[in-house]
Amino acid sequence: MSPTEIAPESPTASPAGGSHRQKNPGLVVYLCGLGTVGLTLFLVGLLNDTDFNIMGWYWFFVVPIGAMIVGAVAGLGYALGSRLMDVKIRGGFLLVVFLTAGLNWVASHYVTYRHLSEQLEETSRESFTFGAYMRAVSENFAFKDRSGKVGKPLGKVGYLFTILEMGGFSIGTLIPVLLLGLRPYCHQCGRYLKKTATRIVGSEMDLRDLKKLKKAEKIERIESSAREVIEKGRALFEEMTATPGYPEVLERLTALPEEANKKALAAVHFHLWKCPDCEGHVVKSTLTNVTLNGQPNQAELAVLDRTNAPEPVVSES
Ligand SMILES: [Zn+2]
Repeated sequence: MSPTEIAPESPTASPAGGSHRQKNPGLVVYLCGLGTVGLTLFLVGLLNDTDFNIMGWYWFFVVPIGAMIVGAVAGLGYALGSRLMDVKIRGGFLLVVFLTAGLNWVASHYVTYRHLSEQLEETSRESFTFGAYMRAVSENFAFKDRSGKVGKPLGKVGYLFTILEMGGFSIGTLIPVLLLGLRPYCHQCGRYLKKTATRIVGSEMDLRDLKKLKKAEKIERIESSAREVIEKGRALFEEMTATPGYPEVLERLTALPEEANKKALAAVHFHLWKCPDCEGHVVKSTLTNVTLNGQPNQAELAVLDRTNAPEPVVSES
């Protein structure tokens, strides 16, 4: 395992090399995340005071979409820290982020509780415990109808929505780091790769060739276009796989024209990424094709990963 990855067994590992590195990147990433989580929950609290409860948004009454959105915003700091510190986030750290988010959520309710408690008379303050506050919040949970009128409190069912809200928030905080996790990474140097070239291999036929055709003929043209570009794409991919290193891969790819027909029925997109510190690079190829329902279809074709592996590793599906 590379020293700049965050894993629970090495939370204090210091990375080798690179003057831009901090001694304890994991802690910096964690503090960046805590910062945005704290700030987001603070803003949500302010919105709550204006009767705008974004945490209470549900999709089809069960998916806590509001809490997930808030979580995703709150979790931006983890991804930002990870990107700036060039730290790859791993499974153990994700668990820490998830559990911390749950605690942060409880803490934000505790702050509200203390705030309310301070406004009470001394005598009633004693019976108003944090547990009593959470019970009241849960059992008084109610949905608003379209006109904004608040419905009946859900009572015991409200606990379910309290749990959903906390879970949705915690899951949401993971979204930014999971998205960043898709970005290629050089484990040898501990750096995120940078995109250096993108080229598109498009089909001969484009949308204009579909006009006035029957449905079956349209499907046939789209399918043959997809086969055509997959074939061309595979040939180029094999050429790149046979090269000794990055300069040759870049040369092969940039030999393709920069401009591509945006109306092509099918196309293979090539993306080349390179490590800023070494010759490590990754090529990803993706197929896109038009469909009759108007939604483009996308599928990953092949990945050439030449980062930390001694021999080029090719995975093709
Ligand atoms: Zn590298």
